[in-house]
Amino acid sequence: MTARQRIVIGNWKMNPPTLPEALDLARAVGTIDPGEVLVGVAPPALALAAVAHALGDTQVRICGQDVHWEAKGAYTAGASAALLGEMAWGTLVGHSEVRRDLGDDDARVGRKLASALGVGLHVILCVGESETEYDAGATDAVIERQVGAALNGIARGAALSVAYEPIWAIGTGRPATASHASAAAATVRRAMSAAGLDADATAVLYGGSVTGGGAAEFAGADGIDGALVGGASLRAEEFAQIVRAFR
Ligand code: PEP
Repeated sequence: MTARQRIVIGNWKMNPPTLPEALDLARAVGTIDPGEVLVGVAPPALALAAVAHALGDTQVRICGQDVHWEAKGAYTAGASAALLGEMAWGTLVGHSEVRRDLGDDDARVGRKLASALGVGLHVILCVGESETEYDAGATDAVIERQVGAALNGIARGAALSVAYEPIWAIGTGRPATASHASAAAATVRRAMSAAGLDADATAVLYGGSVTGGGAAEFAGADGIDGALVGGASLRAEEFAQIVRAFR
């Protein structure tokens, strides 16, 4: 098996709330030494162009947080993949907060993923179970359903990573254990293989309350190739510590 790319992405969500603050954060992230790690940030859509400009001379990649499933048209507030592709390296698709707030179901996530891949964006597909599903022992079933639905019909070799993000761990300060994350990563890869994709070549990230102090545990976990980081990515020093853990 060839070594997989290690990837650490900061999902800024709807933070920082002002452009000067977003640019301050971008400049601080731009000083991080990535080593061999692919480091990216996903700023809010309204700040994306300015943050991309601020990071233009660095190795930090720019990601969207979401993308529309249609190429263009009467979709007020939509973000077209083509426009995003002009400014960004990649995009998140299927983040649980988008599934929750914008009503994305598995079918729509699949259409968004195809739309983003179609313009050459690298997709970070987010999957993960709710607390109720976790308690019911349904983690594997949820991952298999979400991965299978999103990747059905996607060509082998597509520019794709998967972030396993249990919803109960996002923003709660209660990360999954490394062994749970490893087991979930194995399930992601089984579901990818079942869909005919090259699971061994695909990076699987863990997301959910990753901190500077806790990142090393995930960096050493079997089958985990990186992190999708929310809250801690807003503190450049701590984000740098997470990047170092994966170097
Ligand atoms: C996320 O929302 O992608 C995330 C991982 O958030 P946090 O790190 O804050 O749990």
